Amino acid sequence: MKAIRFYDYGGPEVLKYEDVPDPKPGPGQVLIRTYAIGVNPFETYIRAGIYGPVPLPNILGVDAAGVVETVGDGVTDFAHGQRVYVIGAPGTYAELILSDQAKIFPLLESLTFAQGAALGVPYGTAHRALFHRGKAQAGETVLIHGASGGVGTAAVQLARAAGLTVFGTAGTDKGLTLVREQGAHQAFNHKDPDYLEKIKAAAEGNGVELILEMLANVNLPKDLDLLAKYGRVVVVGNRGSVEINPRDTMGKDIDIRGMTLMNATTDDLRRMHAEIGEGLKNGALKPIVGQEIPLAEAASAHQEIMQDGAHGKIVLVP
Ligand code: NAP
Repeated sequence: MKAIRFYDYGGPEVLKYEDVPDPKPGPGQVLIRTYAIGVNPFETYIRAGIYGPVPLPNILGVDAAGVVETVGDGVTDFAHGQRVYVIGAPGTYAELILSDQAKIFPLLESLTFAQGAALGVPYGTAHRALFHRGKAQAGETVLIHGASGGVGTAAVQLARAAGLTVFGTAGTDKGLTLVREQGAHQAFNHKDPDYLEKIKAAAEGNGVELILEMLANVNLPKDLDLLAKYGRVVVVGNRGSVEINPRDTMGKDIDIRGMTLMNATTDDLRRMHAEIGEGLKNGALKPIVGQEIPLAEAASAHQEIMQDGAHGKIVLVP
């Protein structure tokens, strides 16, 4: 099969499209032919060596959708030919992947493979940030600070379906339109010098109860100012350091909550995806795919995902 591997940490150019032996399913495993593969920012951090050592050479990727080829001993829930998506399967930047059956879900006929590849990390992260760490409640106001990308569009849809008032930000007009289309009640441009004042005005002077923060190293001090009394900010994304004045958390009893999807257990993931599955069926959730890029051009997908102007999910197509 063809796969994307890298032998040394570095820029996108270290990603090589090459022949790799086909994997064989062991007990409890399913072999899947990929039709679409999700690209996530943290795969660029692993490639760059920021996330600590991984075995080399390495095939990146955790999200994909495709069709079951064969199953290993003991697999009873999946069969050859079935459309599926996987969450957290190692090494999905490949034509064939192995996954534990617990991390595979049937892919609805109404969804494309590209949409299936947009479900794992983005919807899992958005769900865990909103409900597990953020404790979002119907009737509250949430600000999705960075709402135009893979996680942000999922978070807007999930929050709207759960009965929150949703504010979202984006950095382009196209992104703002996308955020509104996903159900945000109001959208703000995080490049507009006055956008924080506009959010405060929209919150009618009370502040927002919850913020999902996609770029904490830029926005955390601003978030403390935007939050209401007893507000919570969930740090989803961060690319550096920032100085805050801890006193800014005191007067309003503010919680700053870190979160990584990697801390979700397999049971947590299955519960989340049962709920996400219902949202997909009833139409409340609809993954947005902004770009489909050939698997062989994974390096350009890695450049693309680190650019401004997000528009939903970037997927690779074998
Ligand atoms: P993405 O698709 O590339 O989207 C990035 C988002 O950040 C876009 O909405 C972008 O808006 C926005 N952004 C850019 N500049 C911003 C600013 N100054 N203020 C607020 N938002 C800004 O990435 P993603 O997949 O949605 O992931 C978002 C972040 O979460 C990444 O840092 C990723 O590493 C992290 N993440 C964390 C976890 C976890 O488990 N904690 C899981 C998944 C992802 P424009 O492009 O429109 O400016």
